[in-house]
Amino acid sequence: MPLFKFEKNPPIPQHLSITENEWMNPQWQMQNALKKEADFACYFDLQSDESSVFHGASDLFNIRCTPYYASLAQNKPHHPIRKILMPNTRELVSENQEMLDPLGEKRNLKSRRLIHRYSDRALLLITDFCSVYCRYCTRKHFTGQDQVLAKKEELDEALLYIKSHPGIKEVIISGGDPLTLSDAVLDRVFFEIRKIEHVEIIRLGSRMPVVCPQRITEDLCRILKKYKPVYFMNHFNHPKEITELAAQKLEMIVDHGVPSFNQMVLLNGVNNHEAIVQALSRRMLYLRVKPYYMFQCDPSKGTDYLRTSISNSLKIQKNLWGHLSGLAMPNLAVDIPNGGGKTYYSPNFETERQDNTIFYRGWDGVEGAYVSPNDSEIIEPIDAEDYFSEWDLIRNSKK
Ligand SMILES: *Cc1c(COP(=O)(O)O)cnc(C)c1O
Ligand code: SF4
Repeated sequence: MPLFKFEKNPPIPQHLSITENEWMNPQWQMQNALKKEADFACYFDLQSDESSVFHGASDLFNIRCTPYYASLAQNKPHHPIRKILMPNTRELVSENQEMLDPLGEKRNLKSRRLIHRYSDRALLLITDFCSVYCRYCTRKHFTGQDQVLAKKEELDEALLYIKSHPGIKEVIISGGDPLTLSDAVLDRVFFEIRKIEHVEIIRLGSRMPVVCPQRITEDLCRILKKYKPVYFMNHFNHPKEITELAAQKLEMIVDHGVPSFNQMVLLNGVNNHEAIVQALSRRMLYLRVKPYYMFQCDPSKGTDYLRTSISNSLKIQKNLWGHLSGLAMPNLAVDIPNGGGKTYYSPNFETERQDNTIFYRGWDGVEGAYVSPNDSEIIEPIDAEDYFSEWDLIRNSKK
């Protein structure tokens, strides 16, 4: 048994005077979202500058939060989750770098709802709706504009593109948050994607296990199982988000044979410390959720105050290296602004190179050298050509 404990489930906020059944109902959570200043004032003491931001910030990026997620930080002025959900005056001022579309996604839109940036996988923006609008969201050019579920023509157009590109082996269902849609809609979308023979993997990205774990039900898990292999991508940023309820739901997903991963974003003053990242990662791993990415926060408009510096992110990674199981270690990745794609960072322990000999000083200072064979001795495996056609299809998938 682990020595750590998951967060206690938050009590139902008293001002709501509702039943346990209502609280546990995901529809109730979504329909009773906090949107206005008065809603937030029931949970938090608002500072005068926070109060003023409700008018301006929603023009830049929609404001919404589930009562469950807000209750995790209720009446705690310095709680990390408060920073994620609360609009901030600094969203409204211009700072270092701010782009509405830092990943250049609009340029890679192959149809109104499909981004095809990397050869073998395409990203389907099934809805722009989220039950919590995280203030650091990278997709402010799309998310939260109340367009909701893709129209039938938009979806058909995206499916047609995937159908006509046999190099696309994986479809990532994203948004917005796909799990804000009903089981019936999700089932239909999965069904349509699975009809396309060359699609091997379906990936589903959602923050619902964090912001509304009530949404994860046996019925939903059976759908994920039915269309296997479906990979579930979580987005937990902080160990305080892993309540007992969330933990139970994550296990329910994995128990249905759905491999699960976690992508986190390093956020200034929220989770940018190795002690916090290790705590998050080990809890995730214990729940059979593999920590996958630790993202540098994108320079999305109005997020300067939430971004870490690159050197701060590198320091966190370096401090974790060697102390955190490789299974629990997320990849530090930066999305190159302007749509350059992802780039990874990893600590470089090489100290010197002399001809074929490469010298290293490892994570705890132990030194060693690797003597490399000569390049002239390198041969190609004779059966590589068995896989050439498969490989060419993928490499040329964007043509
Ligand atoms: C990040 C991303 C993906 C997925 O990349 P992985 O490295 O496979 O997780 C796919 N499409 C787009 C547009 C992305 O930004
Ligand atoms: S859940 Fe994801 S898409 Fe939605 S606001 Fe948060 S980061 Fe953006």
